[in-house]
Amino acid sequence: MARLDSAHPENVEGPWFVDTRCIRCDVARHWAPGLIEMDRDGRSYLARQPDGPEETAALWRAAEACPTQSIGNMEIRRPPDPSFPHQLTPGVWALGHTEGSVVFHVDGRWLFTGDTLQWNQRRNELDLFPEQTFQSWDVLADSMDRLSQLRVEWVFAGHGMWHNVGTELYAEQMARLGADMRHIGQVGWSQRPHAAYGWY
Ligand code: SF4
Repeated sequence: MARLDSAHPENVEGPWFVDTRCIRCDVARHWAPGLIEMDRDGRSYLARQPDGPEETAALWRAAEACPTQSIGNMEIRRPPDPSFPHQLTPGVWALGHTEGSVVFHVDGRWLFTGDTLQWNQRRNELDLFPEQTFQSWDVLADSMDRLSQLRVEWVFAGHGMWHNVGTELYAEQMARLGADMRHIGQVGWSQRPHAAYGWY
C-alpha cells in the first residue's frame, strides 16, 4: 500500500499520490502517461489527477503494476474492476508476471520480452538485468544469440521504456550482445555506467 507519510512533494493536490519509495522502473509512466511524470532524480510523482473513467482506469493499472506499491488513492483502496488482464490491442493482452522468463515474437515486428531484455534509454542500447538474472548468465547469452536471428522493430520490455529500436539497430546490437555478455560477465555488466537500475 502506498504511504501517504512518504508522499512525493511534487504530487499535485488531490486523492491520488505517489510515494518516494519509487525505484524509477518506468512502469507507471507506461500505464499512465501524462498523469505520472519523472522528477529530476528519476522518481515518479503525480503530475495530474485523472480526468474521467479512462484515465482513472489507467492510473489503477499503474498502481497495480507498480512493484513498490507506491501509487495510492486516499479515498479508495482497490479498483472497482480488475485492472488485468488488459487488452493492449485486439488479440494482445497484458497479463502480469509469469514464472521464469518468456519472450513473444509477434508478426515479425514486435518482441515482448518481460524481464529478458530491455531498452536502456540512458545507454541508448538494448540491455539486460544482470542482478535479476537468477538462473544462468551464459544460458541467457545463448538466448541473445537466438534472439538476434529474429526480425524486430519494437521491443516491449517489462521494465525500461518500450522502444522502436528499428530492424537495423536491433540486428546490429543483438549480433554482439551475447558475445559481450560472455566477455564482460554478469558482475562486470552490473557495474557498467548507466546500468539498468544504476543510473540514478
Ligand atoms: S511503477 Fe512504481 S516504482 Fe516504477 S516508476 Fe512507477 S511509481 Fe516508481
